[in-house]
Amino acid sequence: MTTRRLRVALLLATAVPLTAATAAAALRAGHLKFYVDRHRIELTPQPRRSCPDCRGDGGWWVDGANPEMGACGCWANRPTWRIRLLPVPAWPDEPSF
Ligand SMILES: [Zn+2]
Repeated sequence: MTTRRLRVALLLATAVPLTAATAAAALRAGHLKFYVDRHRIELTPQPRRSCPDCRGDGGWWVDGANPEMGACGCWANRPTWRIRLLPVPAWPDEPSF
């Protein structure tokens, strides 16, 4: 391996993890959960740590006869962004038993 190819390989070996770490930090700062598969790209809002109501827990338990979790507005009132990529396949045509 020549010196030039070695430099390129070292540059790529350091640049790829740095790029991935930068993208993860940008998504964390935006309070979004990023999900990708071949059918969709989805950005889901997450609770904010700086929220004075839930302090990042996303909600609280409501007492009563039937306790349930109340969702905090810091994430529940924000939209989920979804981009469809490939259609979800229909139920496969399999012979019945
Ligand atoms: Zn909150």
